[in-house]
Amino acid sequence: MRFMVFMGSVALHSVLGTCDRLRTACGIIKDKRLRGVGYNGSISGMPHCDDVGHLMEENHCLATRHGEANAISNTDRKYVRGGQAIVVATPCINCMKDLAAEGVRHIDCVGSYANSRGQEHLDDIARVKGITIRQHEIDWAELFQKLFDLLARKGGILYRSGYRLRIIKEPLTGDERIA
Ligand SMILES: [Zn+2]
Ligand SMILES: [Zn+2]
Repeated sequence: MRFMVFMGSVALHSVLGTCDRLRTACGIIKDKRLRGVGYNGSISGMPHCDDVGHLMEENHCLATRHGEANAISNTDRKYVRGGQAIVVATPCINCMKDLAAEGVRHIDCVGSYANSRGQEHLDDIARVKGITIRQHEIDWAELFQKLFDLLARKGGILYRSGYRLRIIKEPLTGDERIA
């Protein structure tokens, strides 16, 4: 249950991402606590992609600092060392290097990001540094339904709400569909 709650929390933080090419987030866990979270966004004071457009080079947007780097900045070093990272999508090669150099031991990836650079090197780094990478296929509807159900448990914030939340997967209509 704990991992599911952390996974949901990190996924919610991805909403704060400021580049609409990909909104991701990363959380760092140590000793059963979520110690820090980061999402991809422009560094403080710089304009956001969502406001001024992307900074494109070779089909990558360079404007944002990635969620993993921000998670490392947001987390006390003693928790990053030997810690576990939850990454929405797959770390790019630079973030993989950062996570590895900072001593993260386990990486849980949710879904994948085909545009990610240097994918083939991730496994090399993981092997040399003794990092375990687990790939998770997550049904978000199922995950958030479970979380809503947990919130409706006795004592939960939805327990006395007088209703229960149900997640429904609605098929997309015409213009909502993504090319
Ligand atoms: Zn961008
Ligand atoms: Zn990255």
